[in-house]
Amino acid sequence: MPIPLDRWRRRLERLAVFVFAALWLMLLVRVTDRLVAEPKPILLLLALVAGHVAADAIAGAVHWLADRYFAPNTPVLGALLIEPFRAHHDDPLSIARHDFFEVSGNNALLVAPVVAALHGAAETGALGVLPLATGLSACLSLFATNLFHAWAHAPAPPRLARALQHAGLILRPAAHARHHRLDHDCAYCVTSGWLNPLFDRLRLFERLEHAIDRIPRARRLRRGGPHPSAGEGAR
Ligand SMILES: [Zn+2]
Ligand SMILES: [Zn+2]
Repeated sequence: MPIPLDRWRRRLERLAVFVFAALWLMLLVRVTDRLVAEPKPILLLLALVAGHVAADAIAGAVHWLADRYFAPNTPVLGALLIEPFRAHHDDPLSIARHDFFEVSGNNALLVAPVVAALHGAAETGALGVLPLATGLSACLSLFATNLFHAWAHAPAPPRLARALQHAGLILRPAAHARHHRLDHDCAYCVTSGWLNPLFDRLRLFERLEHAIDRIPRARRLRRGGPHPSAGEGAR
């Protein structure tokens, strides 16, 4: 009897999580070895923070694209990104009911090849130790983004999650609630949420949509009408 597609997908996502974890840990060892030989504590801290910020920006951009463009039945991208974000708007609490592999599998599939590429860059010497540390931090934050997002919706998140939320290191529930309370047209960043005030004040994604609207082919990819806040001032 053939295995249902859903079960194949779950197996693939579980495998991706393990592959990501193995690759990431090997890269961590590689970077640590180099840093032990040549310690740079302040620069290392800056590199790690830069990675976490970069992850917030990337997650925000991906979330915005998934909310505003493409249809859920788009090949590959639809099942991987578009459909989960749309379903999340319909039932925001469902993300908190999924297990670790269901929540993290998609991101592991997307980020594992990036970690593999970082290994290649480390091997050839194309990247120094600090850019590698930034990549290491960004990949871990991107991998964990859906988990941070799920914890922001969980009625009773784990103690670690509450501590990280309280410290402001990961997405806070109150800050993310803005995305769901309004028209899903702001606060797209769901890793730390640090960039939301800046991006929203700059109306970054709204401006990007206006720019994309000038390209007829690209405009057709948009799922709905003009940006919900089009024509309004900054919030
Ligand atoms: Zn949410
Ligand atoms: Zn959304």
